[in-house]
Amino acid sequence: MNKTEGSGLGRRSLLAAGAAAPLLASLARPAAAQAPAPAAGQPILVRGAFVLSMDPAIGDLPQGDILVQDGVIRAIAASIPAPEGALVIEGAGRIALPGMVNGHIHLAQSMQRGLSTEHSFGGYFQTIVLRHSNRMTPADVQLADHAGGLEQIAAGVTTVMDWSRETMSPDHADAALAGLDAAGIRGVLAYTAPPIPQGGDAAALGGRMIAHARSLLAARAEGLVRIWTCLQGPDFTPLAPALADMKRLAELGVPIAIHTGAGIYPNRKTRLLAQLDAEGLLNERLQIVHANTHEADEYKLAADRGVMLCSTPEVEMRMGHGHPAMFKAAAAGMKVSVGTDIPSMVGGGLLPQLRVAMAAELHRINAAALAAGQGVPATPPVTARQMLEFATIGGARGLGLDRVTGSLTPGKRADLLLVRADQPLTAPRSDPAGLVLLQAGAGEIETVMVDGRLRKRDGRLTDPGAAAVLARLQSRAEEMAAAAAR
Ligand SMILES: [Zn+2]
Repeated sequence: MNKTEGSGLGRRSLLAAGAAAPLLASLARPAAAQAPAPAAGQPILVRGAFVLSMDPAIGDLPQGDILVQDGVIRAIAASIPAPEGALVIEGAGRIALPGMVNGHIHLAQSMQRGLSTEHSFGGYFQTIVLRHSNRMTPADVQLADHAGGLEQIAAGVTTVMDWSRETMSPDHADAALAGLDAAGIRGVLAYTAPPIPQGGDAAALGGRMIAHARSLLAARAEGLVRIWTCLQGPDFTPLAPALADMKRLAELGVPIAIHTGAGIYPNRKTRLLAQLDAEGLLNERLQIVHANTHEADEYKLAADRGVMLCSTPEVEMRMGHGHPAMFKAAAAGMKVSVGTDIPSMVGGGLLPQLRVAMAAELHRINAAALAAGQGVPATPPVTARQMLEFATIGGARGLGLDRVTGSLTPGKRADLLLVRADQPLTAPRSDPAGLVLLQAGAGEIETVMVDGRLRKRDGRLTDPGAAAVLARLQSRAEEMAAAAAR
């Protein structure tokens, strides 16, 4: 991509962002003015919602109450008396479900929102990675992670896996964590070992970052935001150094995430998963992202080893990675999450990803049936409920967090959503899973609770600093776009 083209994209996108500013500002206006925040320890009772628990032992409750206290779901039942002093939240006309889990997003690229609208993979890499991401300061990363976390919360995502290629130094990593903490979202920060700058001392920087990651691990072992690592991986580099990196990071004992198997990767290895297994690197502490083109027996091998997989359907199909692997991987028994990938191209949380993936898979099945001279299946073999599972309990499993979140289950942390089912986009309420998946948007997601704290209430973010964060994001994005165009 040449400079002129890049700057043109930047101007168009920034004009569009400017036009949306009043809407963002109204969304970001704190709800605190209308309703006081619950006090520490105050019980919260959601009353009379249609409860889609996503826990098979609890099932659906056409009219149910949910009691939360100290960040934990205490009880779910058809009727729960309000404890003394409880904050009661109206659930009538709403669907309650677990908060969604975004299994893969480059959250710092929220600073470049919309700049990849017309990008191929090459254009994305040349522009976003080389001309924007590499120039972000720690303060930029903190701002973008905070703003990106707010976007995810507004769209009903309560857990993110933030693949941070912008952790270019220990200060950048601390800044990413500060941004996630400020947004109040649950998550995993995947700390990277970046490409070493030309002339830089690889061993010194690598050693300093490993030591820093190790200290973060100890400090963040049980918190809202935990630490993983991520690597460029074997499909972007020669095999030997990638394996050496993976073995070095494996010593930290935390999950490693790598992008693999996309049809467009120039260094894609044949039978990569079998090769990783031969090196002892295929295990329950590995997440593979995209993974579109591995061979059928490799998904089964990965499932047997406990490997996690994340599909990012919209970006994968737009850029040429291939058909989302989530369906064949789940059929092979893998733990599968769904992610949004690059905010520079797509946004809006997980619901758009689920819709795109469901349509793509049904299209694949229908086209194969027609090509074989058969009729399309009378009943679609992929259901709305299965898709919502990928975003909730399945996604939690796909990040190893299913004992913490992913379903409305007493004892789990209180990550939950209330979706209006009585609005122009959602009335009349019919099948709740279908209504949430195929009809609702972020505007219908009225309430978002993360770890028992109300992060969106009455349709608005409760972060009193949200409007200021978005205003700073706008001005800094304009500066960075101007610098990138030079
Ligand atoms: Zn990615």
